[in-house]
Amino acid sequence: MITPTALFAFDTLLTEEEREIRNTVRRVCDREIRPHVAEWFETGELPARELARTLGSLGVLGMHLEGYGCAGMGAVSYGLACLELEAADSGLRSLVSVQGSLAMYAIWKYGSEEQKQEWLPAMAAGEGIGCFGLTEPDFGSDPAGMRTTAKREGGDWVLNGTKMWITNGSVSDVAVVWARTDEGVRGFLVPAGTPGFTVNDVKHKISLRASVTSELVLDGVRLPDAALLPGARGLSGPLGCLNEARFGIVFGAMGAALDCLETAIAYAGDREVFARPLASYQLTQEKLADMALELGKGLLLAVHLGRLKEAGTITPEQVSAGKLNNVREALEIARKCRTLLGASGITLEYPVIRHAVNLESVLTYEGTSEIHSLVLGKALTGIAAFH
Ligand SMILES: Cc1cc2nc3c(=O)[nH]c(=O)nc-3n(C[C@H](O)[C@H](O)[C@H](O)COP(=O)(O)OP(=O)(O)OC[C@H]3O[C@@H](n4cnc5c(N)ncnc54)[C@H](O)[C@@H]3O)c2cc1C
Repeated sequence: MITPTALFAFDTLLTEEEREIRNTVRRVCDREIRPHVAEWFETGELPARELARTLGSLGVLGMHLEGYGCAGMGAVSYGLACLELEAADSGLRSLVSVQGSLAMYAIWKYGSEEQKQEWLPAMAAGEGIGCFGLTEPDFGSDPAGMRTTAKREGGDWVLNGTKMWITNGSVSDVAVVWARTDEGVRGFLVPAGTPGFTVNDVKHKISLRASVTSELVLDGVRLPDAALLPGARGLSGPLGCLNEARFGIVFGAMGAALDCLETAIAYAGDREVFARPLASYQLTQEKLADMALELGKGLLLAVHLGRLKEAGTITPEQVSAGKLNNVREALEIARKCRTLLGASGITLEYPVIRHAVNLESVLTYEGTSEIHSLVLGKALTGIAAFH
């Protein structure tokens, strides 16, 4: 027998250091996350603060950033960490992506020296949590339509508006909020507890239940000029952050798929149907072979994109291609694995249905599959089907 990753000699593409990082993250997930994650999912409650500290001491928060207590690792190492985290649960990877690639990256890339000193070391250690508020109730795929405003009043800024579907919202110490100003879209650091700033959790989710999702309400929130991110002007600011987070998803989605496939292979070996193991039937083997192919291709694509990112040549279209393909295929793999588990496949006793419903969110956030198709369509034809 050969594992799905060994079929593609995946490890030969990685350095020894990268393999070690992957194995360390896997060990911590096995010890600290996997025994509890189904319960967090079922109850919709997770110990976010404690988890952030665990992930901080593991060194995965902002791990691809340099300085300020961050680990300064390469793109493939970061991707492999995302893969292992998402093999445990997409909600866990979301916590890490939003913290490191959205909130910390925004401060690291666009922040003042004072803002970096104030927030980044604490966030890298998991002592501080951040969120990223771009989406609004009426503007998701089209953030250019945002209605949240920031107006100058004397030396201060006053923010009004609502952000929706914000990961880590109610457990955050600081929110990176994007708002329309007279000089275009600008980013602001809004500390939790600022007067006029309230956060309400989204309840009744069926997907990504082991993750906090919130609404941010800004009602006359007054901030000093020092809260403005000086280096970001226009929508390219938040879009640059999203590109970082999408890269992590290219690897992460394959982690969820791998966990499903390994579960299904083990189940099919044990489960007897019509007096023979389920794994011995040709229909089963065809399913497993097809899934291993898509998984292997997705992993190869992820490492290729990682190497391009490390070389500094990756383009947003390439990240779109990776996000679109790998999330779509991961979702197909999760659904197909679910069929192999039969009725057992619908319970939280196995991780498969949890991954499947989680991946529905992953398909939508960080640019929906339709939007990434349109990005590729524009790149291939030179014609924008959207603006
Ligand atoms: C669990 C979860 C966590 C999230 N976390 C965050 C976060 O931390 N921060 C944040 O800012 N946002 C976050 N989001 C929001 C997410 O990024 C948006 O949901 C996403 O961008 C889609 O926006 P929407 O839901 O408003 O859908 P819409 O934009 O209304 O899209 C609805 C449908 O229309 C399609 N569509 C849109 N435009 C076109 C077009 N031109 N042609 C054809 N079809 C089109 C879409 O693909 C989709 O199928 C999160 C979402 C979820 C579900």
